[in-house]
Formats: sequence, C-alpha cells, structure tokens
Amino acid sequence: MSSGSEIQRHYDVLIVGAGHAGANAAIALRQGGFAGSVGLLGDEPEAPYERPPLSKDYLAGDKTFDRLLIRPLAFWADQQVDLLLGCRALSVDVLQHRVHAAEGSAIGYGKLIWASGGAPRSLVCEGHDLAGIHAIRTRSDVDRLLGELPGAQRVVVIGAGYIGLEAAAVLTKLGKHVTVLEMQDRVLARVTAEAMSRFYEAEHRAHGVDLRLDIGVDCLEGSAGKVTGVHLRDGSVLPADLVIVGIGVIPAVEPLLAAGAEGGNGVDVDAFCRTSLPDIYAVGDCAAHQSVFAGHARVRIESVQNAKDQAITAAKSIMGTDIPYQAVPWFWSNQYDLRLQTVGLLTGYDDVVVRGDPANRSFSLVYLRDSRVIALDCVNKVPDYVQGKALITSYVQFDRAALADDGRPLKSLLTA
Ligand SMILES: Cc1cc2nc3c(=O)[nH]c(=O)nc-3n(C[C@H](O)[C@H](O)[C@H](O)COP(=O)(O)OP(=O)(O)OC[C@H]3O[C@@H](n4cnc5c(N)ncnc54)[C@H](O)[C@@H]3O)c2cc1C
Repeated sequence: MSSGSEIQRHYDVLIVGAGHAGANAAIALRQGGFAGSVGLLGDEPEAPYERPPLSKDYLAGDKTFDRLLIRPLAFWADQQVDLLLGCRALSVDVLQHRVHAAEGSAIGYGKLIWASGGAPRSLVCEGHDLAGIHAIRTRSDVDRLLGELPGAQRVVVIGAGYIGLEAAAVLTKLGKHVTVLEMQDRVLARVTAEAMSRFYEAEHRAHGVDLRLDIGVDCLEGSAGKVTGVHLRDGSVLPADLVIVGIGVIPAVEPLLAAGAEGGNGVDVDAFCRTSLPDIYAVGDCAAHQSVFAGHARVRIESVQNAKDQAITAAKSIMGTDIPYQAVPWFWSNQYDLRLQTVGLLTGYDDVVVRGDPANRSFSLVYLRDSRVIALDCVNKVPDYVQGKALITSYVQFDRAALADDGRPLKSLLTA
C-alpha cells in the first residue's frame, strides 16, 4: 500500500474507486489470467469492503469491520494488485492516458475502469452542516455515528428509502426513539409498489417507529454547533439528538464528464461497460446502461449484483472477450426479521399480483407488463425469489390467477 503523495507510475489497468465494483474488476482480471499491472486507487483509507452491512449488522454491532472486507488484506499483495488508498482521482487526461490524483501526482493507464460509486445527497436547507447530522455511505460515516449514539436518545431519519428504513430498524432495536420523515406519501416509493410500502409502514409502526409521510423538512436547528431539532414544513419542531439523512446518491463522475464523457445521471456506458471515451470503462453505481430489463431504458442501478457483474463484463472486455451485460438485476434489504429480496426491475409495470398474505409476513408481489413477469418483490419467501428469475427471462405471458395461487410453485407455471 502507498499513500497518495508517493504515486507516480503507469498501470496496464488502473481502477478508480476501491469499492464493490473496483475490487471485483481487479479480482475478475486476475481470475481471467490477466498478467499486466493493475492499480486500484481509492479515496477511502480502507481496503475494499462491503457496504450493505453498514446499515445492518455493522450498525447493530453484530459484525466487526474485518468481516466486511471483500478479500483479506494479504489477497491484494498475493494477486499483485496495488492498493493506492487514501488518494482521490481529480481529473482525467484522455489524450495522455493519465489520471491526476491528489497532491499533484499523475498515474498513467493503458485501460481505465471508473468505479467511483456516488456520494450521499446532502440536505441544502439551513442547519444542514450542524454536527450530529450523518449519512451512511462509508465505514467512517458509521463509525462517527456509532461514536455519538450512546449520547443520543431521539434519532430523526430523513428519507424512507432502503438505507433510512434499515437504520431505523436497527436503532429501534437498540432502544432509540426513532422518527422517520418522508416527503412522499409512502415509504420506498421509488423502488416498490404501494402494497409493499404499506406493509413496511405497518411493520415500522408496530416496532415503535414514529413514521411521518407527506412531510417536508424546513431547516435544522442547533445549539453550540450541534443539531437539536428538525423544523417541519407544517410548522412543528421535532427534538433530535442525532439526524440521519438518507435521500439518495449522486454519482461521482465529475472528472469523467469534465474529460468529455457522455452522461448526466452517471456516465453512459454501452453493453460492454465502455464509456464514450477511448480505453475508459465505467462500472457500478456510477454507470448508466441501457437495460433489457427496463425496456432498453438507460438505468443506473445501485446494487452489489450490478457492481459485481458490470465489473466482470468490463474485465472480460479488456481481456478481449466482449460479452454484453445482461444479468438479471437483484437486490435485498433486511429490516427486523424481514428479508426483502427483489429480482428484476419494475420499470413500466402495469399490473401487480399479490402471492400469499402479507398478514403472515411471507408473501410476494409479482410485477407484470403486458402479462409478462418483469420483477418480483419477495418478503421472507425465498422459493418465489429463486424461481421468479426464470419467469422473467422466459418473456412468456402468464395468467394472473395462476400467479396469485400461492399453493402453486412459480416454476410449475413454466411447464404448464
Ligand atoms: C448503507 C448501504 C447499504 C446498502 N445495502 C445494499 C443491499 O442490501 N443490497 C444491495 O444490493 N446493495 C446495497 N447497497 C448498495 C451497494 O453497496 C452499492 O451498490 C455498491 O457498493 C456499489 O459499488 P461501487 O463500487 O459502484 O461503489 P462504492 O462501493 O461506493 O465504491 C466506490 C468507491 O470509490 C471511491 N471514490 C469515489 N470517487 C473517487 C475518486 N475520484 N477517486 C478515488 N476514489 C473515489 C468512493 O469513496 C468509494 O470508496 C447499500 C449501500 C449502502 C451505502
């Protein structure tokens, strides 16, 4: 490992961003027999680690950081992947094939894989920069939050997406008084149908979360530089010892866009994860690709599956095997004793079928477009999740009554 100031060399493949996608790109290169030099440059101080536990087991104290590492530290040296940590790429010189990093250093590349993920969207209202306001994106974010937790009883979570709700579930279990604020009229509005939102709303309320929908934040107030309350648009004020903001991610692609890459919400990539710039690939949360599972719309997917599979696609392309990226997307979220597993993308659905009874806390939602299955959300229902993928890739039209028949395994519908 070396610090930012020491870097001054050339790599056959330079990877910017040492997260899920970056790490898996390096792994895929070595697994594919790539013998050239590989540098993995990241602005965090840690070796690549898994982010999902940050809002789950790591926040709960059930997993130590060592168990989050994507590979043990020795792996990177064994595989001759140079970890260049604590170092931020600032700009890309496309003609010279160089990345300029902090402290005036330049690193040459043959191929560049941009795997920079994104930064949590911040509040812009008055008081947004008070102490005691936290995002959950990196290990250091969560360590800071954990450091303040013993002195905090009233926690306000702004944003009822996956991360906000997962944090609310953990903190409620830890005995905190948790209020969740959501601007939309339902939780998880961007990622699921109304029936699932209502199910999760009821679960959080049953666990003691004060969940408020349709409510905007006006500003935050503090004392001695530390947050003490959240002013709501309805004029009320919520006392707060600690605030967690989970309102989305902004892809970290400015250097690539400044270098001329096409994009906007992320960097646009083709089916092989190539950007519009020569010898530059982009993978993971920062890359926007046209997905067959979204009716060929351009999507930017934030998931471990997407990060890993795009990394493999880019690595293979660099090694001379162009295989279009067409993996079926999948996601998961753990809240309380509920495991939500999603397969497919629900973009453009025109019908939703419920399988099973939400009251039993084990059920699925099947999303249809023109009677074809495009996605499933499965709560504590692993067989539906596992079998549902084949329904999606069959592109067959299904009878909704058969899909709704919970006594019938989904796989049997393919042979009917
Ligand atoms: C709290 C949390 C919970 C999650 N839970 C789930 C889950 O349950 N299931 C799921 O599928 N997904 C989950 N995700 C999403 C998943 O972790 C991401 O989709 C995945 O990490 C994306 O990988 P990535 O490599 O594209 O980005 P990241 O993992 O974010 O890695 C990008 C790295 O690049 C660094 N970087 C950025 N810019 C630069 C630069 N200019 N120079 C150098 N380094 C740079 C960043 O600091 C970061 O270390 C969760 C994410 C979070 C934050």
